[in-house]
Amino acid sequence: MRAAGIGKMLLRKDFDAVLFDLDGVITDTAKVHAVCWKRLFDGFLQKHAEEKKMAYQPFDIEKDYTNYVDGKLRYEGVRSFLESRGIELPFGDADDQPGFASITGLGNLKDQMVKEVLDAEGIEVYEGSVTFLRQLRRQGFRTALVSASKNAEAVLQIAGIADLFDTRVDGEVADRLRLPGKPAPDTFFEAARQLGAETSRSVVIEDALSGVRAGREGGFGLVIGVARKGNYEALKQEGADIVVGDLRELCD
Ligand SMILES: [Mg+2]
Repeated sequence: MRAAGIGKMLLRKDFDAVLFDLDGVITDTAKVHAVCWKRLFDGFLQKHAEEKKMAYQPFDIEKDYTNYVDGKLRYEGVRSFLESRGIELPFGDADDQPGFASITGLGNLKDQMVKEVLDAEGIEVYEGSVTFLRQLRRQGFRTALVSASKNAEAVLQIAGIADLFDTRVDGEVADRLRLPGKPAPDTFFEAARQLGAETSRSVVIEDALSGVRAGREGGFGLVIGVARKGNYEALKQEGADIVVGDLRELCD
């Protein structure tokens, strides 16, 4: 019953703007991020366990990535996960050397890992998402990209889909405007504002629990979850109005 009649829920008479997350919604980079976070934290946790003479408990992609990291700004993801393990580190500065000494150092090391993987393997775009975006734009919807990623512009350029968005609120823009990341709704508010759309006439499309929560708490007109990992129920519980497995299900 999850896909029935979904196309009719997103009509131009009801909504003006559609706000898309990037990783996991448009591009298949969510997997790359998850794997890099695991490599980063496993290295850190192993060293931490040795130093404190504690048992080493590795980073769990199912549990730790989903609950503490996915969809959040990079440093906030590091802080949130370390807090869940009761580990305190100095915050550091944004230009800290990549490494284990600070929250920003860990975040910068993860960014370096992601860039290396993307350089080596390229970026995969979900074709169903591109088809859906083209359809929305033909129907006169305005579209925005809302991503915690600081590589969003490069990813769009490399994938050749930058022209499918009227505006972009990414990690760089959030930094500049000092907007808190998801699950705070502020980056989605900013995108709707830039598109001249009311919150109630804007649609949020997200694959992360933190992003769905941002859409729900921001009072957006419709929140669509994309269950790339089959996590339909979790996205519903977080507040998604409808959940699809791929955006192709929303196409005419
Ligand atoms: Mg995502």
